[in-house]
Formats: sequence, C-alpha cells, structure tokens
Amino acid sequence: MRIGHGYDVHRLKEGRRLILGGVEIEYVMGLDGHSDADVLCHAITDAILGAAKMGDIGLLFPDTDMSFKDADSVELLRTAVRAVADKGYKVGNIDATIIAQKPKLRPYIDKMCENIAGACDTSVDNVNIKATTEEGLGFSGEGLGMAAHAVCLLENK
Ligand code: MG
Repeated sequence: MRIGHGYDVHRLKEGRRLILGGVEIEYVMGLDGHSDADVLCHAITDAILGAAKMGDIGLLFPDTDMSFKDADSVELLRTAVRAVADKGYKVGNIDATIIAQKPKLRPYIDKMCENIAGACDTSVDNVNIKATTEEGLGFSGEGLGMAAHAVCLLENK
C-alpha cells in the first residue's frame, strides 16, 4: 500500500460556475482557474499521483496547455487514475475535506462521492468527503477562495 496527500486552493470570482467533485453548486460566485477549477478533484488527483510517485496535477495537465482550458476535472482525475493503473496501482480509499465558508455543501456531498468513485474506478464506500468552514478566519473564512485537502491510499492491483 502507498499513501498520498493533496492540497489545492482556488480563488472565488463572480461570473464563474462553482463546481466541486463534478457537481455544479448554486452560488453567487465560482472558483477561478484554467480548468473548471474543481478544487476537490484537484486535491484528490494530487493525492493519487503523489501516492504513485507521479508528481502532481500540473505535471500531467499543464495550465499552459490550451487543451485543458475549462477542462472537466472529473475527467482529469479519471486520466490520472488510469495513469497510476498503468503503474500497477488501484485506489484503496480516499478521504477529503473541502474548506469553504459558504455555501452549505452537505446536500451535494453524496453526488460528489458518486462522481469521484466513478472516476476512480472504485466503490462509493471507498470515498469520503467532508466540508468544513474555518470559522470566518483567513481567505476561506473571508469568502475569497476555497481549499481542499485529500489523502489517498493506493493498493497493488
Ligand atoms: Mg487546482
């Protein structure tokens, strides 16, 4: 077994869609970035690549590459999972935390778990997603951005 950790941050901006774990969430702002800026998928992708000693998401999908403009990050995650599968690994389990002051994410969590499990070719029982606020402190607390942490265990196939 191998363990990996991922962390990502994106800035909130008006006029952008908010997408977390492949779920579009109704909110007054969205996350800004080259792709769809799905901060949760990016942290999970980094955790998976990290566990396999395959660098990070920026190495696999450079933001200088126009083919990744507005990319669906669930598909990027799926591609990363295929890359680690080629090295002989499969996802054991994933635990992730989204850090956001607003909006309430609870109603969307089950669908996020389904999307991530599908992309990772694993059971939804192996994917846990949590959301927390930082009590009004720092950039997330001030509503300037969102962050996500993830850990992933990879197993030999
Ligand atoms: Mg990112």
